[in-house]
Amino acid sequence: MAEETIFSKIIRHEIPADIVFQDQRVTAFRDISPQAATHILIIPNKLIPTLNEVEAEDEATLGHMLIVAAQIAKQEGIDESGYRLIINCNRDAGQEVFHLHMHLLGGETLGKLVNK
Ligand code: 5GP
Repeated sequence: MAEETIFSKIIRHEIPADIVFQDQRVTAFRDISPQAATHILIIPNKLIPTLNEVEAEDEATLGHMLIVAAQIAKQEGIDESGYRLIINCNRDAGQEVFHLHMHLLGGETLGKLVNK
């Protein structure tokens, strides 16, 4: 059984977060420590620790996360200027919160994809 993270509390509105979108499947909120002018996290409401635990039944939710990301990018006015979507999985990618999340980054020119 996966352990809940702070993101479950955000989904249930038990702790404050700047939620920009929420429906039955996903929640999107501004990152507390933004790495770009626009930095929003899009997460499934279902607790999935990492991309490795995704199941066939999650397919629609994962697709929905992409559709929501594009809608939010438009809402934020960065759809034409451009944006990047990132999912970190486990240690080498630097995943810190073990509730699957997609970073939506934009609002400025972003650096290279991988810094070594
Ligand atoms: P990861 O490195 O796991 O891919 O990214 C986790 C992200 O969650 C980080 O960018 C971090 O700033 C963000 N984060 C961690 N705790 C909180 C929180 O309590 N509220 C919000 N809004 N963002 C958080």
